[in-house]
Amino acid sequence: MEVNEQYAIDNGKEPSAIKQLLMHHGPLTPTEYYLKMDEVMDELAYHAFLKDVDAYITKDVPIQHLIGHEVFYGYAFKVSPDVLIPRFETEELVTHTLDYIDTFFQKEPLRLADVGTGSGCIGLTLKKEHSTLDVTCTDISKKALLIAQENAASLGVQATFAQGSMCEPLGEMDKFDIIVSNPPYLKDKEPVAPIVKDHEPHEALYGGSDGLKYYRELFESVEAMVNPTYMIALEHGYDTAKAIRKLIQKTLKDVTIIQKKDMQGRDRMTFVFKNNKVRISG
Ligand code: GLN
Repeated sequence: MEVNEQYAIDNGKEPSAIKQLLMHHGPLTPTEYYLKMDEVMDELAYHAFLKDVDAYITKDVPIQHLIGHEVFYGYAFKVSPDVLIPRFETEELVTHTLDYIDTFFQKEPLRLADVGTGSGCIGLTLKKEHSTLDVTCTDISKKALLIAQENAASLGVQATFAQGSMCEPLGEMDKFDIIVSNPPYLKDKEPVAPIVKDHEPHEALYGGSDGLKYYRELFESVEAMVNPTYMIALEHGYDTAKAIRKLIQKTLKDVTIIQKKDMQGRDRMTFVFKNNKVRISG
């Protein structure tokens, strides 16, 4: 058997995964890899590489679990089966959030909570990019919070971590200016690829029969946790933007709602503003 990108394609898998695993086990940087393609790999490393290729191809193990991290917004986040693997779509939520902070919030320090933080990718990236933010990350899973804490340490950022569902742990704290979340939003019966369903935590994936359980929970509890001027920034499923708008109109009064598409043109993000003098529509 020849282990190359064609082998992945023949098995209906991502060809780039083979290169990433090779890079992970070999001593070369991506540039060196192209310059020294004909060099022989150390035998131990080669066996470790073959083992991981097999886990990826035959057992559907995500390569992020084999490599141990995923790159999000240019930062390496440790991942394990206890957290959702950060998705690149979520980088767009971070970008818009940073833009809105610059446009609508002059005060410093701003208090921001990333609720349902998982690996910590949203809250910790925001802290990396906007160092004066006072960031709190919540998650219902203790194991997820431990990973997020490790990520904060390896990225060299300070954040507060609190265990509990969505906004629940925030009740005890000073009020927040910004709430960001990418909560679990798959419908309970939604078909999901085995590489996701068999390897990522179900409590990070599923959001009840309509996928909206955690948005409901958030909108019903959030006003007690925030200052009079606030923003909520959310990622959601591509087909729930209208339902989320309705939910907001039902639960939050006098707010401005802006919904955004992701780079693939899918309705994926909702931003809610209160008292920010937001005059944009869309
Ligand atoms: N906030 C984390 C992320 O976006 C975790 C999301 C989740 O577990 N649903 O990756």
